[in-house]
Amino acid sequence: MDSKIRKTFKFVVIGGGIAGVTCVEQLSYSLPSDDVALITAGPHIKAVTNYKQVAKVLEEFDVEEQPASVLEEKYSNLTVIHSPVKRLHTQSHLVETEDGHIYGYELLCICSGAIPKLLSHDKPYVLGIRDTDSAQEFQKQLTKAKRIVVIGNGGIALELVYEVEGCQVIWAVKDAAIGNAFFDAGAAKFLTPSLGADKQERVAPCKRSRYTTEAQTFTADRHRQGRGSGHTEPGSALGPDWHRELVLKGAEEASRRVSVEYQCEVEKIFTSEEMLNSQSETHALDTEKWPVYVKLTNGKTFGCDFVVSATGVTPNTEPFLHGNSFTLAEDGGLRVDDHMVTSEPDVYAAGDVCTASWEHSPLWQQMRLWTQARQMGWHAGRCMAARVLSETIELDFCFELFSHITKFFNYKVVLLGKFNAQGLGADYELLLRYTKGQEYVKVVLQTGRMVGAVLIGETDLEETFENLILNQMDLTEYGEDLLNPDVDIEDYFD
Ligand code: FAD
Repeated sequence: MDSKIRKTFKFVVIGGGIAGVTCVEQLSYSLPSDDVALITAGPHIKAVTNYKQVAKVLEEFDVEEQPASVLEEKYSNLTVIHSPVKRLHTQSHLVETEDGHIYGYELLCICSGAIPKLLSHDKPYVLGIRDTDSAQEFQKQLTKAKRIVVIGNGGIALELVYEVEGCQVIWAVKDAAIGNAFFDAGAAKFLTPSLGADKQERVAPCKRSRYTTEAQTFTADRHRQGRGSGHTEPGSALGPDWHRELVLKGAEEASRRVSVEYQCEVEKIFTSEEMLNSQSETHALDTEKWPVYVKLTNGKTFGCDFVVSATGVTPNTEPFLHGNSFTLAEDGGLRVDDHMVTSEPDVYAAGDVCTASWEHSPLWQQMRLWTQARQMGWHAGRCMAARVLSETIELDFCFELFSHITKFFNYKVVLLGKFNAQGLGADYELLLRYTKGQEYVKVVLQTGRMVGAVLIGETDLEETFENLILNQMDLTEYGEDLLNPDVDIEDYFD
């Protein structure tokens, strides 16, 4: 195999999503005389732009889908290779790509993202949304749809049910409240009325960039590698405002119509033929004929045009496992330590593909989000460079406190620390401030100290609360004044 090696690079990074690109930028910038290769399946890369540090750890940025040449023009030591990796040989430090080439590396970082967990891989009419191509496919199917069933209670489902118009949405969630991955039943109660209201005009223009990818066509070369014409290469995951570029409109005129089915999961998905053959087993709630039927564990069956499976993601490790002995975490991710090192020699990993397996700060947890993909890619790049330079490096400060800024149902949402009292048992107190349609503020306190917060709406509290969580000040004496709207809390703690 050695004779076939095309080139050996000091650093090879796999994946042109936010983790891989950030890692590559960090390496190319800090070690300009070393060769860096980015090997990626998709034609475009994801670049972070307009990065803004909102507070000590809270950050906001835009994401632009760009041609990889933009990166190569910026860093003369960088080569971008467009071909999916099909095998990795960690012992010989070699990577094989689908187009038949072999590359050597001294240090490797895997940033191959995650793939959507599909409810059913063999059923037609079940869609997952991950990248630009799958989002466009969803949009196309939606234009002909009168009713869809959305399964899942994470960020993608939350955004999707709010954005779809002109089509009835049946939303099946396994929990007793919507948005369980992000907030509690109180916040869900605050947000739920938005589902019944018409979509408001956005108060502020969207700051995110628009995605400009064209649907990919595949070269004859790739067909020769045994891939069928319907195959699409795994692209980068979409991120904040993924739906902005897409008109998510169904076949009907009516505006948003969402009905939520709580505490249920999918028992079975039937095609219309299977439905006809199993009339005794189940019956749909209406007489209309649909292409697909979903039977839920609450006993109800809904016919629909198609099903959206938004039930989370699985780390995309498959191409790298054969013949290697990576230690995988329970969620299927490559386990990494606090230097983003996997269990295989000289192999790092970052972003959705990895599972942070160091002893976390008590106020941080991993969630497969845009911000963490950037932070991990950046930290991995720094650790790899430090290794070559024989420098020591500490875990970055951003892993001290979980922080995330997003938008749900057109409200700004800030999540800090143990925002849902994760892992605190019964040993915590909550303070709440709630103004219908305007704001929802929840603070999680443990032994008088703030350990988490949910801020929905324009509360302007994020910086102060981030400070209070980081400095772990005893807040007992302030009591409920902490959330008293008549007290200017910023002055209070200055
Ligand atoms: P990805 O962005 O998935 O990039 C993986 C890269 O690896 C891609 O370039 C791919 O082409 C490449 N690749 C894959 N396999 C191979 C291979 N075998 N060989 C070579 N290259 C390969 N997060 C938020 O914080 N906020 C949000 O609002 C939000 N909304 C989302 C909405 C949707 C619809 C989705 C799908 C995700 C959303 N996320 C959101 C999650 C966020 O997008 C991901 O956490 C983040 O993009 C992960 O980045 P990554 O670099 O690890 O992986």
